[in-house]
Amino acid sequence: MKRSIILMGPPGAGKGTLAKKLISLGLVHISTGDMFREAIKAGTALGQLAEQFIKRGDLVPDEVTIGIVKERLSQEDCANGFLLDGFPRTLVQAEALDEITKEIVRPIDVVLNLDCDEKELVRRISGRRVCKVCGAPYHIDTLKPKVDGVCDLCGGPLYQRNDDNEEALKVRLEHYTHQTKPLLEFYQVKGLLHNFNGSLRSEVLFDEIVEFLKS
Ligand code: AMP
Repeated sequence: MKRSIILMGPPGAGKGTLAKKLISLGLVHISTGDMFREAIKAGTALGQLAEQFIKRGDLVPDEVTIGIVKERLSQEDCANGFLLDGFPRTLVQAEALDEITKEIVRPIDVVLNLDCDEKELVRRISGRRVCKVCGAPYHIDTLKPKVDGVCDLCGGPLYQRNDDNEEALKVRLEHYTHQTKPLLEFYQVKGLLHNFNGSLRSEVLFDEIVEFLKS
C-alpha cells in the first residue's frame, strides 16, 4: 500500500475530513494547520507567531513551517507512513520536503489532489464548524451534529475557525492559486500526482481513495 502521502487541494476541498478517515489505515496524520492551532491554544511562542498570519489568511513563514514538519517527520511513529495535510504549500516547502524525505529515507509515494470548484469551497467554508476538543468537522447544513453545538464524537463544543470568514478566505484562496496550485505541476513532473473529485460525498471519496492506495 502507498503509505507516504501528501494530500493537496484548496481550503474547503475536504482534506481534513478525508485525513481523519484515513487514520483508520494506520497512517499518522500531520496537519500543519492543526499543529499551529494547537500551539495557539497552548499559548506557545510558535502559536503567538503563527496566529498573526493565520487570522489574516496569510501563510506562516516557510522557515517556521518547514522546521515543525521536519521535527515531526523525524519522530518514530512516522516510520510506518504519514499523511501530510496542508504541507507543502509553497515551492520552497516542497523542495525542503524533498530533502527531509531523503534524510529520513522515506520518499513520497503519492500526492492526492482534491479538486473542487470555488463556489462549493465558499459554501463549505462559510458553514464549517469544528470541534474545539477533537477537531472533528461539521457543517451547519450538510453535516449537523445530533445536538446543536456539541460534537457527536467527544461532546466538545463546536466553533467557527477565525480564519473561516469571507475576508480571510479570499486571501487564503489567493495564496492557494499563486503559491500552492503551481505545486501540482511540480508533482506531476515527478509522476506522483493523482487527481480526485473533492465534490463527491466524503464516504464515496474515501472508498475511491482507499482502493487507489491499495492498488
Ligand atoms: P489549514 O488548517 O490547513 O487550512 O491551515 C490553516 C492556516 O494555517 C493556513 O491558512 C495558514 O495560515 C497556516 N498554515 C497551515 N499550513 C501551512 C503551510 N504549509 N505553510 C504556511 N502556512 C500554513
